[in-house]
Amino acid sequence: MDIHVLVPAAGSGHRVGSDTKKQYLELGGQPVLVQTLSRLAALSQITAIHLIVPEADVDFCREELVDRYRLEKIGGIIVGGTERQDSVRNGLEACGAASQDVILIHDGVRPFFPQEQIGPLVQLAAVEGAALLAIPAQDTIKEVFDGRVRSTLDRSLLWQVQTPQAFLCERILEAHRRAYANGYVGTDDASLIEWCGWPVAILAGHSHNFKITTPADLAMARALLASGEVSLT
Ligand code: C5P
Repeated sequence: MDIHVLVPAAGSGHRVGSDTKKQYLELGGQPVLVQTLSRLAALSQITAIHLIVPEADVDFCREELVDRYRLEKIGGIIVGGTERQDSVRNGLEACGAASQDVILIHDGVRPFFPQEQIGPLVQLAAVEGAALLAIPAQDTIKEVFDGRVRSTLDRSLLWQVQTPQAFLCERILEAHRRAYANGYVGTDDASLIEWCGWPVAILAGHSHNFKITTPADLAMARALLASGEVSLT
């Protein structure tokens, strides 16, 4: 069984409030995306990493990221699509994984994923078909309609999901193909598995594994790194 990683990094990435896309901003002396890719490549169980970027960024990513930082295990650079789901589907169709391989899908802007949990996550996905990292919801979450609260959700049942999300290749490929054929759009990859009626297992993750999306996230990431609370080795 091989383990392939798809890293969608084809978003416009401008919410972080800079002219540079968020995945290329500097964190700990290297672009955020390079930090994520290096930490993935360092895991012995991973076979290949497939980077998914906008068409206009392919040459930049090959020259200024993969070659310049001598990134290892890069199986290919794949052109993304309009929505994240399109980018992932392109990656699944192009990565060449076999049906019984495990595919990890991980946002390029989550450099602080817990390396020690990748092995258990892959094992869970191999048995259950799909597994993801998540943390219990910390805030009370309300359903709101037309400016008024409609209900307060039971927090004990709510989890905030992260990436990596891990899947048996045949499951996630089939789920993405069915969703595309039916025009279904989910907010993460696991939601397509759920939509097909298949199980998704949960593995408790860590709050440090946040997505660097806004200027405040980047400031937080730099502060955590400076304080020694997290490390990128
Ligand atoms: O936009 P959002 O923060 O949800 O993006 C999560 C990840 O998906 C980012 O790494 C982003 O680059 C990627 N993405 C993509 N293709 C898109 C949109 C987002 O690969 N069309």
